[in-house]
Amino acid sequence: DDLRRAAREHPDRQAVVVWHTDGRDKETVTYAELEARVERIAAGLAGLGVRHGDVVTLQLPNSWQLIATALACSRIGAVAGPVLPIMRKRELTFMTGLTGSPVYIGPVEHRGHSHAELSEEVAREVGSMRHRVLVGAADAPEGTPGLPGALDFDTALLGEPGTEGAVVGDTEGRGAGPDDAAYLMFTSGTTGEPKGVVHSHNTLHATNRMQVDALHLTGDEITAMGSPTTHNAGWTWNFTMPLLLGATCVHIDNWDAGLMLRVLEEERVTFFMGAPPFLVDLIDRQREQRRDLSDLRAFATGSAPIPPVLVEQARDVLGCRLYALWGMTENGAPTITRPEDPEMRASESDGSAVPGMEVRIVDEETGEPVGPGGTGRLQVRGATQCLGYYRRPDVYAANVTDDGWFDTGDLARDDGHGGIRIAGRDKDVISRGGEKVPVVEVEAALRRHPAIKDVAVVGYPDDRLGERACAVVVAQGDKPELPDLREHLDGLGMAKQYWPERVEYAGELPTTPSGKVQKFKLREQLVDG
Ligand code: ATP
Ligand code: MG
Repeated sequence: DDLRRAAREHPDRQAVVVWHTDGRDKETVTYAELEARVERIAAGLAGLGVRHGDVVTLQLPNSWQLIATALACSRIGAVAGPVLPIMRKRELTFMTGLTGSPVYIGPVEHRGHSHAELSEEVAREVGSMRHRVLVGAADAPEGTPGLPGALDFDTALLGEPGTEGAVVGDTEGRGAGPDDAAYLMFTSGTTGEPKGVVHSHNTLHATNRMQVDALHLTGDEITAMGSPTTHNAGWTWNFTMPLLLGATCVHIDNWDAGLMLRVLEEERVTFFMGAPPFLVDLIDRQREQRRDLSDLRAFATGSAPIPPVLVEQARDVLGCRLYALWGMTENGAPTITRPEDPEMRASESDGSAVPGMEVRIVDEETGEPVGPGGTGRLQVRGATQCLGYYRRPDVYAANVTDDGWFDTGDLARDDGHGGIRIAGRDKDVISRGGEKVPVVEVEAALRRHPAIKDVAVVGYPDDRLGERACAVVVAQGDKPELPDLREHLDGLGMAKQYWPERVEYAGELPTTPSGKVQKFKLREQLVDG
């Protein structure tokens, strides 16, 4: 067990550092302290009757409690079930209903929202949920709605010092085996209903090893992250990977670009991972704040298309090197640009397969690998690939080819240097009279327009051509008109049949909490409006 070893070898090194957006003092947990808390929480979970294979719902903001409880689950062979703090009754009922989770663990409240009430409402509908454990319940004011019947995290799980080492497994003494489920993470829900992805200790470990090897990361790393730990990127990049390395992971309990810049400076963060929207925020704020980010060596980004202009800005404004990657909840980060690649590679590539993973691009009709320069469906196989979708084996099996490749639903082309470039998702393709619009490229080109802060290109139905492209623009300053956008694309040398034929304006784009534009919502609006 990596944590036990780290606690022995460097007990006083900081494992987890948590900053709070509400101004509370930061919390620091050393490796020895983390190990002791994990043991106590494991005893606490076993005491609540949690058994091998049970899914423990963890709807916690970034915190040491989240990390320690997830690790404690493994000690008794239970499955950590992270859920984003932003999820509400509809999503949480769906998720816990699917997993049959017996325990909900969350904060009493977070960002003004009562999880005491939320969890009570959900527990009423989901019969399996026997316990609700809330961080901070003991300190909550009397009469807080939803509190009756809930347990306090410190009392029920952390218990008393002295229970360390008391637990060697669940009630029947079973711990976790390498191929047992380690965690169950829901996909972002960008294209529809989220799927519950099950990873084993082996597949998770493979993801972490490949991250470390691809970017040459070491135990001296101090890592930080934009998105929540309860998203797969946060889970693998800013929790399990740094702890595997014996490094330090730094967290803030809610996204705040100004605070994050301060944290990057004061904690001397060396490695940051964040989806493009977080990068955009940090670049914007750093232009005003001018923090000393000289320790920040590398910034990895992915999860959504990366506008090339960001790669230049990361270098110029943040002074760090940007690594592009592509990945899914189902398989971690199978492709990453490499440190040995030329610096600007990240502006034209989503990376090459990391050692141990294979990727291929196949023709949409024939399923045969496409030749150089061709675009097709991206398929992947290798050690990081998940076990499947929880209680939806049919949906998962439908994505696996006879020869064991996982079909990602993404479209990609060869980047010309042995890597891939994502062209979009099969569900987002705009087919204009049979001609495919290169959506990602059109968006990237539009992002270079000075009046465009953000943009999504989506299809809308058309009687003659089947579909045409609409640009949904978040403007900065005056709203750019359609002719202006078309002239801009013309200036960049883009063929006319790819220019949007309609423009709509939005205050912001509908995104998942992990920063992905939910185009299915935009498409619905275009049809209805
Ligand atoms: P759902 O499967 O529920 O619709 P989702 O696919 O967005 O949601 P995730 O697993 O969080 O859920 O995201 C994986 C997807 O993110 C990939 O399939 C891909 O479409 C997108 N993605 C990841 N990295 C990149 C990248 N570098 N460029 C473009 N898209 C990316
Ligand atoms: Mg997906």
